[in-house]
Amino acid sequence: MIRTWLGELFERFTRKVPVERSHKPLPPHPANVPGTFYVEDGCCISCGVWEDVAPDLLAWLPDGSYSHCFVARQPETDEELSRMMDAMHFAEVDCIRARSCRPDWAERLRNAGLGDQIDPD
Ligand code: SF4
Repeated sequence: MIRTWLGELFERFTRKVPVERSHKPLPPHPANVPGTFYVEDGCCISCGVWEDVAPDLLAWLPDGSYSHCFVARQPETDEELSRMMDAMHFAEVDCIRARSCRPDWAERLRNAGLGDQIDPD
């Protein structure tokens, strides 16, 4: 009896449940510079976590409100891509996204678990 109960409990907590994302990408914030990476408009909770990893790639809006960040410069090197990926990982609401991504960079994003943050072509 207890063995059955423990078995059911184990199965319940180890069952692989497909994760469905409810998040639909918002349009890019108009302050983003053109290019692959962008911050969605209207998503911001002012997490600011990118300041530690990519302060040269993202920036706060210049109004001094800390109300939204945007992509201020696109990554150009693998090292800069790595830091943009760190910002994507740490951003609290998956608000940094990629579109029309170079195939090798898209593969890096997918391999790092960031595939959901690539827009479909
Ligand atoms: S990464 Fe997202 S939540 Fe964090 S400051 Fe930028 S827009 Fe706001």
